[in-house]
Amino acid sequence: MEVILQNLTKKFPGRGRKNPDEVTAVNDFNFEIPDGSLIGLLGPSGCGKSTTLHLISGLLKPTSGKIFFGEDDVTGLPPENRGIGLVFQNYALYPHLTVKQNILFPLENLKGKDKLSKQEMLEKAQEAARLVQIDGLMERKPGELSGGQQQRVAIARALVKMPRVLLLDEPLSNLDARLRLQTREEIRRIQQETGITTIFVTHDQEEAMSISDQIVVMKDGIVQQTGKPQEVYDDPLNLFVAKFLGNPQINVFHGEIKGNRLYIGEDAVLDIQGTEREVYVGIRPEGFVPKADGPLSCGLRGVEVMGRDISVVTFNKASLAPAVRSIISTENMADIGSTTARFAVLPHKVYLFDKETEERIYYKTEAVGQ
Ligand code: ADP
Ligand code: MG
Repeated sequence: MEVILQNLTKKFPGRGRKNPDEVTAVNDFNFEIPDGSLIGLLGPSGCGKSTTLHLISGLLKPTSGKIFFGEDDVTGLPPENRGIGLVFQNYALYPHLTVKQNILFPLENLKGKDKLSKQEMLEKAQEAARLVQIDGLMERKPGELSGGQQQRVAIARALVKMPRVLLLDEPLSNLDARLRLQTREEIRRIQQETGITTIFVTHDQEEAMSISDQIVVMKDGIVQQTGKPQEVYDDPLNLFVAKFLGNPQINVFHGEIKGNRLYIGEDAVLDIQGTEREVYVGIRPEGFVPKADGPLSCGLRGVEVMGRDISVVTFNKASLAPAVRSIISTENMADIGSTTARFAVLPHKVYLFDKETEERIYYKTEAVGQ
């Protein structure tokens, strides 16, 4: 089911003397979610992710704008008539019911022509349980399950009516690191197996990047950028998006374009064609190449070996953060000095941003001296 958000806006009124200001939680959201895709809705806490999800589910009414499921304008429909499945962070299972009863619950409330026979209900519950691989646990109570298993039950319960759209709000946040990884792969598998259009909300960029067909990056209720995860990572439109995606974070320096060179401090790091101005220079950790006569000079703080790669932690007066993090391969280690590290920078890993607006500035560059 294709989902279309049209100028979707949600304002919350101020609450009393302590919070007198109106909050625009979602501000003119426009997006078309292709049928059968998994969308990662991503942004820091408070940016409007849950509000967006609740608008799509019908739990909240928009202040303005419209929502379509395919051809249907669902903006005025109550949640139960939209054909959605919802999963929250805290599972929200009924503790006194068994797994089977929890999964059956949404089916038992069907009325009129949708009403199912006992046998049909059991078959559907069994099928949903099989999808999330908990069909062996049907007689247990939620208290007898691990967090990961409880979340699977919650997903099965959301799937049992075969929703048109599956909405997941930070579904992995309560799980430990290993289960988080495993369950996110599971969610991807289930989504691909069922073909249900899915919106997955998270504040974790890695989570969203790893399983989404497209990501939507939000800040302060406003969509910053949408696209395939790798495209957004490779081509961020502003400093916020550049910083939000990637671990370790992109390194940001005060820089200047002067005489067809890009300077970081005193170091001319790239040849560049562009207007003379001050800029922010963002360099991805993988954009540094250790080189004895490299143009960028940094003080060495430490070296962390992480299996195949090495993280070289340095400092530089022009850096906004106290540490500059680069990821290099082990073979290049020989080129790191004992107190200083010199780097060449890869032009396609360097991004420039306007110092006022923090919007991306596009330019042509080459490595110095080429
Ligand atoms: P996220 O899920 O990205 O953390 P939310 O959508 O929950 O963010 O919240 C977005 C903004 O809207 C926040 O500033 C939050 O305080 C505000 N907000 C959310 N729900 C309400 C509400 N019911 N009343 C007033 N303000 C709200
Ligand atoms: Mg939220």
